[in-house]
Amino acid sequence: EAKSRAKGSCVAFEQEMDARYVERQKLKVDLGEAVEQGGLHVVYQPMYKPNGTRIECCEALVRWVHPERGSIPPNVFIQIAEEMGIVSEITRFVLQQACADCASWPGDIGVSVNLSVQDLRNENILDVVSDALGEAGLPASRLHLEVTEGSLLAEMGVARSILTHLRSRGVTIAIDDFGTGFSSLSYLDNLPVDVIKIDRSFVRNISEEARGFRLLRGIVHLSRELDLRIVVEGVETEEQLMLLNKYQCADLIQGYVFSVPLPSKSLLGLMEALASKSAAMLRQKKMV
Ligand code: C2E
Ligand code: MG
Ligand code: MG
Ligand code: MG
Repeated sequence: EAKSRAKGSCVAFEQEMDARYVERQKLKVDLGEAVEQGGLHVVYQPMYKPNGTRIECCEALVRWVHPERGSIPPNVFIQIAEEMGIVSEITRFVLQQACADCASWPGDIGVSVNLSVQDLRNENILDVVSDALGEAGLPASRLHLEVTEGSLLAEMGVARSILTHLRSRGVTIAIDDFGTGFSSLSYLDNLPVDVIKIDRSFVRNISEEARGFRLLRGIVHLSRELDLRIVVEGVETEEQLMLLNKYQCADLIQGYVFSVPLPSKSLLGLMEALASKSAAMLRQKKMV
């Protein structure tokens, strides 16, 4: 009897695995269609000066709203796209959209686009970036590209050559999710990098005495020694912001404390309001 029960649960397990497999296959088909038929869109999350007076740059984040299943997180569908070998098409779309949207923003606000590990394997990305900039009429100085520590480790050889080319054209290179890749810090000295984005895991349980916060401050010192700019990601509360500012941990802050990711049109008003406010402040200072 025990044997047949075990057999029964084994069958149930297999059925569940089959169901999951079928579901994932269907998701692949649907993703392929979405990529081909314009089913993806892009939202933007601003990076602010730590005092909140200015937006310097916005990160482009891709979105997929599935017709039946609703919003699918990019962490999930980017991985599927990588398995399918179509992630470079998503990168191309996001780059084109991001450059076009950025060209409509006031001042010299920049845009930051995430690259996949697969984009670092193929020199094609150099033309894709040039084309996106050219079509939008955007200067390279306003484009930032984010690569994760993990993807750099996986593709050190080609990645270095690709990033060196991009940077020599004036594109800013950022290391994303910094501090999560179990990497040797010596790579910072060997790669063409301008910015590090400290992962939000360092901010989550932040308090003056916490070891995690001391580690963060150590990373900040190291980065300043290497002339790297520091973005702190995932800042959610005023308390976190206050502590980061007390120890001057960030050049830029990205997180819900300032703004969630928003469509370009919704951000435009905010950007213009900030720009005119700081212009007014400048005029006021001159008058005094
Ligand atoms: P990421 O590049 O590290 O992006 C930051 C993620 O943190 C975003 O999640 C953002 O919505 C989220 N976030 C921002 N502020 C906060 C906060 O205060 N608290 C919390 N809890 N989360 C915050 P999202 O949009 O779900 O993206 C997840 C990841 O998917 C990204 O991590 C990136 O690795 C990948 N991704 C997103 N868009 C693209 C894309 O266009 N291309 C590629 N290759 N990957 C992308
Ligand atoms: Mg990113
Ligand atoms: Mg720049
Ligand atoms: Mg990140």
